[in-house]
Amino acid sequence: MKKRQFKSESKRLLDLMINSIYTNKEIFLRELLSNASDAIDKLYYLSLTDRKVKLKKNDFKITLELDKENRTITVTDNGIGMNEEELEKNLGTIAESGTLFFKTENEKKKDIDVIGQFGVGFYSAFMVAQKITVISKKYGEEQAYLWESSGVDGYTIEKCDYDNYGTKIILTFKEDTDQDTYSDFLDQYKIDSIVKKYSNYITYPIVMNMERSELKEGTSDEYETKISEETLNSMVPIWRKNKKDVKDEDYNRFYTDTYHDYENPAKVITYNVEGKCSYKALLFIPSHAPYDLYTKEYKKGLSLYSNGVLIMDKCEELLPDYFGFVKGLVDSEDVSLNISREILQQDYQVNLIAKSLETKIKKELETMLKEDRDKYDNFFKNFGMQLKFGIYNDFGMHKDVLKDLIMFYSSKEKKLTTLNEYVTRMKKDQEKIFYACGETVDKIDLLPQVEGIKDKGYEVLYLTEYVDEFALQMLMDYEGKQFVNICSENIDLDSEEERKNLEDKNEKSKDMFTTMLGAIGNEVKEIRYTNKLKNHPVCLTSKGQVSVEMEKVINSMPTDEKIKAETILEINENHPIVKKLEKLYKNDKTELEKYAKVLYAQARLIEGLPVENPTEITNLICDIMS
Ligand code: ADP
Repeated sequence: MKKRQFKSESKRLLDLMINSIYTNKEIFLRELLSNASDAIDKLYYLSLTDRKVKLKKNDFKITLELDKENRTITVTDNGIGMNEEELEKNLGTIAESGTLFFKTENEKKKDIDVIGQFGVGFYSAFMVAQKITVISKKYGEEQAYLWESSGVDGYTIEKCDYDNYGTKIILTFKEDTDQDTYSDFLDQYKIDSIVKKYSNYITYPIVMNMERSELKEGTSDEYETKISEETLNSMVPIWRKNKKDVKDEDYNRFYTDTYHDYENPAKVITYNVEGKCSYKALLFIPSHAPYDLYTKEYKKGLSLYSNGVLIMDKCEELLPDYFGFVKGLVDSEDVSLNISREILQQDYQVNLIAKSLETKIKKELETMLKEDRDKYDNFFKNFGMQLKFGIYNDFGMHKDVLKDLIMFYSSKEKKLTTLNEYVTRMKKDQEKIFYACGETVDKIDLLPQVEGIKDKGYEVLYLTEYVDEFALQMLMDYEGKQFVNICSENIDLDSEEERKNLEDKNEKSKDMFTTMLGAIGNEVKEIRYTNKLKNHPVCLTSKGQVSVEMEKVINSMPTDEKIKAETILEINENHPIVKKLEKLYKNDKTELEKYAKVLYAQARLIEGLPVENPTEITNLICDIMS
């Protein structure tokens, strides 16, 4: 028979599995049982929605068999089964979750990460098996097929006889080595404990013949071995149990196994709603961001169950994008089994649930913020960006939900602070919320404008993420206090007298500034003196809606649209350079023009903007120095 080849990516994953040094090899059983349960889910679902399929919940089960002599374990389910094409497609190609791994640059990473993070499904059986045989018959079809593989050199598919529908998977274990005793998996107690550990909440019975020795009837010291079929799992799904009967570690284990995370969740949320639409929800906030959170590959959503029957794996409609990091499930008797993906968006019940979940998640986050600040800080470092995007997106429709959940670094507190905290600390005469933008906290701290404002005793929020300023502009104000970028011109902390003085001074130097502007060109709209700088000679401020920081962000995007912030070159009125400039204006206008160019270049550098004519500027500097 012709050997068929695995797709190349599958081959690499397979190779990883076969040579795996992963110590937790027992998870292969969890993967097979979860596949079996999924297959039964599909057929059970049919039985509820298709009159022709006459099956009852009790008809379904998963059977385990051990054969010590032949070193095999057999996992049999009476689920939907696979036909020839499906065997080819599903077992010849690695699952989507596995391919994700290869799309990243992490190929050199240890296999531990792959297995832990993705739970690579069916192929994980190759960690323990030298040969895998799959016999399957699709429900409703006549012909059964046998798929077989001993690893990288490919697989075969042929017709075979099989009375039942569903799938039977036979693993022939590898020979024991010094490191691994695969024979352990032939022990009934070992298998029993693995099932209880990972698959306890599978809703169909997982049965196995267990040998137990019992007292022989009528004797007091003679034993005999009895074999009887036992159900190994508890079957009640964890979210249907009473919260007080479930240990934290059970929730954690459910989370790490189901979502293939190596870390316990930061928060477990259980929610039981009775009313117009009754449902149970079990939600998790991960303690770290998945590496693909901000990529197209990441799919948000919660599993949706209708009265214990899984209808959908990732129902996006249940979560707003900004809470897309939440994992978990919803089980409701009020959601119709027949609901299709297409009509989800309009479904009344689904919308009700989504709304109430949003409120619940928000509340839980607020509680975390109030009661466990360290945890919230960590949460925010992982997922804060998503919240800020949430404010900006959809034309600010959700800003009220999110405005109390976002934080920024504070110049005063030297750590993340909420807008509410900022406002309560505001100085009496302060009317606006000040912020500054830059690549890092350290760089912002060095901005000339920041120094000046801090010196006057005001608190400044440091915005380091490119979405930050867009989010604040969308918010417009917090409790009536407007946000002001201190690097833009509309900031006014002066007394009437100070303002008057500055105006006079600017008026007097008007002609000098015109000369200087002529030298710089039309990149700068205006030059003037400022009193808000402390030690720095110059700074660049922006005029209008587009700040210098926004210019940087938008121009770095791969679109043709380029924008330019309108800038003003401000000169520190108290800096010694002022005297020099005034002297030059009187005696040497050519030299003044050189100074203007150099000062402008300086201001750009401080702002983190490129200098477009570096050779000219360096030559000018040398010229001035000599
Ligand atoms: P995943 O479960 O993440 O999709 P797997 O590699 O475990 O990845 O399985 C690949 C596919 O093979 C499954 O999506 C399913 O369609 C099919 N499959 C696996 N086991 C069974 C089974 N016992 N019955 C029916 N189909 C199965």
